Amino acid sequence: MRKPLIAGNWKMNGSAELIETFGRTFAGVELPSPVDVVVHPPFPYLDAARSAFAGTPLSLGAQTLNPLHSGARTGEVSGQMLAEFGVEYVLAGHSERRQLYHESDEQVYERVIAALTVGIRPILCVGETLEERDAGQSENVVLRQVGYVMARLEPGQRRMMTIAYEPVWAIGTGRTATPEQAQQMMAAIRDYQASFDPALADALRLLYGGSMNASNAQELLAQGDIDGGLIGGASLKVDDFKAICQSA
Ligand code: PEP
Repeated sequence: MRKPLIAGNWKMNGSAELIETFGRTFAGVELPSPVDVVVHPPFPYLDAARSAFAGTPLSLGAQTLNPLHSGARTGEVSGQMLAEFGVEYVLAGHSERRQLYHESDEQVYERVIAALTVGIRPILCVGETLEERDAGQSENVVLRQVGYVMARLEPGQRRMMTIAYEPVWAIGTGRTATPEQAQQMMAAIRDYQASFDPALADALRLLYGGSMNASNAQELLAQGDIDGGLIGGASLKVDDFKAICQSA
């Protein structure tokens, strides 16, 4: 039985006030069933979030990290630094990082390793573009992205991983994959995982991401292989995010 995970990716949004609102609201939230919840605010809010989220079900997440421990990398933040702030999860391979910052599969893998080295759980984001879907390449693209990282990890490292399937055409567009489309890809990821690590396949948490909101979450989360969500826009509205957590 996999424990669901709901992750909120604030991207370059939010404010100190929103951190406080989340802390206050979630301090009184009863989640109906066991679920892990993590919020990924921008770096400058991590310290405030650590205080505001204490005593709530919210864990602390980061949106990226630099693979190096320290050094001459102006503007970058290392895993070691994130660990010092109590960060438990980090995104790796988000499509915005792959597209806008040209992060390759190899660079995504380096970030995953850097996170694992300091005990932070990576959420590996994968997904196809609309052109790739139209060309019938969705599964090839997604399994390549998954395999590049997962096949290089030790079994113990794989157990720290979560995979988020986020079709690029559904991110921030208001266009959600149908529950059937999402389920089909999740099943393909789980089958692929079973092909080289059968013991992990059943335990691996798979999240759906792409315009998930309070109205469509329940149907998506009801699919057998969907173990949670990675939520962008709707994670900035505390009541919507709370409702999604309550439907997990
Ligand atoms: C995301 O950024 O990971 C995401 C899924 O965004 P949205 O929910 O806004 O589509």
